[in-house]
Amino acid sequence: MASAAAAKIAEVRETTRVERIGAHSHIRGLGLDDCLEARPVSQGMVGQLSARRAVGIVLQMVREGRIAGRAVLLAGQPGTGKTAIATALAAALGSDTPFTSMAGSEIYSLEMSKTEALTQAIRKSIGVRIREETEIIEGEVVEVQIERPATGMGTKVGKLILKTTDMETVYDLGGKMIESVLKEKVQSGDVIFIDKATGKITRIGRSFARARDYDATGAQTRFVQCPEGELQKRKEVVHTVTLHEIDVINSRTHGFLALFSGDTGEIKPEIRDQINGKVAEWREEGKAEIVPGVLFIDEVHMLDIECFSFLNRALENEMAPIVIMATNRGITKIRGTTYKSPHGIPLDLLDRTIIVPTSPYEENELKEILSIRCEEEDCQMSDNALTVLTRISKETSLRYGMQLIMTSSLIARKRKAHEVDVEDIKRAYQLFFDEGRSVQFLKEYQQEFMFHELDDDMRMEL
Ligand code: ATP
Repeated sequence: MASAAAAKIAEVRETTRVERIGAHSHIRGLGLDDCLEARPVSQGMVGQLSARRAVGIVLQMVREGRIAGRAVLLAGQPGTGKTAIATALAAALGSDTPFTSMAGSEIYSLEMSKTEALTQAIRKSIGVRIREETEIIEGEVVEVQIERPATGMGTKVGKLILKTTDMETVYDLGGKMIESVLKEKVQSGDVIFIDKATGKITRIGRSFARARDYDATGAQTRFVQCPEGELQKRKEVVHTVTLHEIDVINSRTHGFLALFSGDTGEIKPEIRDQINGKVAEWREEGKAEIVPGVLFIDEVHMLDIECFSFLNRALENEMAPIVIMATNRGITKIRGTTYKSPHGIPLDLLDRTIIVPTSPYEENELKEILSIRCEEEDCQMSDNALTVLTRISKETSLRYGMQLIMTSSLIARKRKAHEVDVEDIKRAYQLFFDEGRSVQFLKEYQQEFMFHELDDDMRMEL
């Protein structure tokens, strides 16, 4: 039963992967070795060694939780892998550490104020790890007997004979226990784990060894001998939720369903105060701990002066996540002011930021990235075609080169070829302009337009 469930999960994951071949779907981690040195090609990442090493140190800081109030800026030319590196960091952190990704422009929503949008992003990046202890009875089922009472309507009664290492115990089945025995189709020979408080079966397996395999929660278990000599387990279950999720669930106007629709709207400050108080209580009681995660703001130059000042203050909070920003801008105006500043970020925020530069790729690195993308997009490409595509990417941009993979692959498919060759790349290159040729085309077009005007003027003069 549990293995069927596991197979189902695997299936769902597989579909998700097939559906989502996004720009960064080839990236599975930062590609670092145990000493946090960057491997030249690993986990879908290529080159950009020093930036990856630097972000590896950030990863270490996040894991050790010593990161409140830190900000990192990934700065470099377009297409040098800033977003890719942030994606790699998210993958390396794993699902237990919150990672929120947003573009600077996202805060200009009509539905909520800029500071509310930032507050939500920050609270989505702060995890609360909650520990719960439950007592679990573990044993092998010797027999299950369920019978309907002759007179009764509906309710069933029964007996469950559970054998543990020391003794056989007979449970009278009733209430929740019978429901779960029926639901889980418990049979003799099964090994089951029953939560003592709720009477619910937490796990079921066909043998002890397999039953333990099903413990996919990673929860720690500890055996305690109870007075009756029955083997019991105290199981610690750990969940990580974000502060934002707790806010939404407790917000009366929205309710937990808003978590699925994403339509959370503004959340009242009183609710947040209450949640903060509650979480502080749990921390004191040792029931919960704070897991500061990562907030990634791409195109951070799109934030304005108010947002920057808000961020500056938010970073001072002891629960603050690590904020990673990315920009491809040089010295430019800070949005909302007439002042210029490096990367369009105010100096006081820059001052508390560590800057990680990214640099343009060498030809061999471009070739490697393009080859990884071909694999990701299921595209067979001849070596010659890949060399031509690399040269095109070097002269135009990596992004444009990547676009040509799918387009040339479709062109190859039309002539019923199994492999993309140089001619397909050339055809795609002719059909789809890169930015440089597009600008050139516009200039030429503009000139033609002016000649037309000139013609009109001349005609008027005539
Ligand atoms: P921009 O400043 O325009 O936002 P960027 O620096 O964020 O650019 P990315 O979007 O990360 O650039 O990179 C462009 C594409 O190249 C993406 O599909 C990304 O996954 C891929 N890419 C970039 N660098 C690498 C790398 N080092 N290894 C593997 N893939 C990479």
